[in-house]
Amino acid sequence: MKEKVVIFVSILLAIIVFFTVCATTMVVINKGKVVQTASTLSNYNAEKENSINENIETNNIIKKESKKTTQTENKIVNEKAKEETKNKKEEIYKAVDEKVYAITTVHIREKDDTESNILATVNLGDNLQRVAVGSNGWSKIKYNNVVGYISTQYISEEKPPEKEKVDIEINTERKIDPSKPMVALTFDDGPNPNSTPRILDALEKNKCVATFFDLGTCMSNYPDITKREEAIGCEVGSHTYGHKNLDNLSKEQILEDIKNAEIVYKNTLGHDLTLVRPPYGNANSIVKLTLNYPLINWDVDTLDWKSKNKDSIIAEVKKVGNLDGRIILMHSIYNSTADAVEELIPQLLNEGYQLVTISELAKYKNIELKTHTAYWGFK
Ligand SMILES: [Zn+2]
Repeated sequence: MKEKVVIFVSILLAIIVFFTVCATTMVVINKGKVVQTASTLSNYNAEKENSINENIETNNIIKKESKKTTQTENKIVNEKAKEETKNKKEEIYKAVDEKVYAITTVHIREKDDTESNILATVNLGDNLQRVAVGSNGWSKIKYNNVVGYISTQYISEEKPPEKEKVDIEINTERKIDPSKPMVALTFDDGPNPNSTPRILDALEKNKCVATFFDLGTCMSNYPDITKREEAIGCEVGSHTYGHKNLDNLSKEQILEDIKNAEIVYKNTLGHDLTLVRPPYGNANSIVKLTLNYPLINWDVDTLDWKSKNKDSIIAEVKKVGNLDGRIILMHSIYNSTADAVEELIPQLLNEGYQLVTISELAKYKNIELKTHTAYWGFK
């Protein structure tokens, strides 16, 4: 019986040992498999990454190649366009043979391009021979021994008007010393019923004068103020009828505006207009050719319309330094300008300046006022 028990226990132990060995082996095998699977996965990922990188690289190469192709294609297209433009340029010029005139000071260029070399410079009224007219806005012209291009807008088949000297009668009662400094105050855009009389009071009080470039529209509303300007010895010019930017108008529109201004001026003051200030100082070659007046601009801008501030207006004048021969721009329609003038006039007189009109300043600075001409000061 004891033997039977020993055999049974031994068999049981053997079975236990067997199963234990089997289980351990399985675990080891499985572990290996897991490790192997993990390593395979990691290899797979690395390969995938490589493949993606390769893919990107390949794509980049393809892109580069396609860029190269596009560049080449663009080059071909550009060259074709250039060729076409060149052909067109040759086509758009129509041969002519006619006499034309320069309507302003303008350059003759080697090519029909504002960047090309200047061959010569012509002036208002110079006679030129046009040999071809282009639909690109340029004309091919001959001038003396020069053959080149001028922008068609600066030439005219019609002979431009001669610039004529304008003589304006000077009030001889006022004593001006030509050896002493003088400056011209000028006032635009009025008359205005509030501020203009204040400016006139300041002038009258200090026994000095200025020039008013009045608007036709305002002059017809307040003719008495314009009359007073002249009555106290000031000069009155026209700032046109409607204050339009003349550079944007046709010759006919400019003539219509100035005609209206002339009528109001003569009705108000009983004599003809002599001086014009174009709005914004704008006078292109068409404006200058069309307006039969000296066009009086300025060389000191007080910016009174912008600051509307007495101290700032005075500071703009003071920062110029020597004002002898200068034309100062102001506007007679602001009370801030009247405030500034009330202080500025006695200050200028104290500094030894004579306040004169535009035609007095031109006369004493030996400037001949001519029609169809714009002036930016008489210095
Ligand atoms: Zn104006």
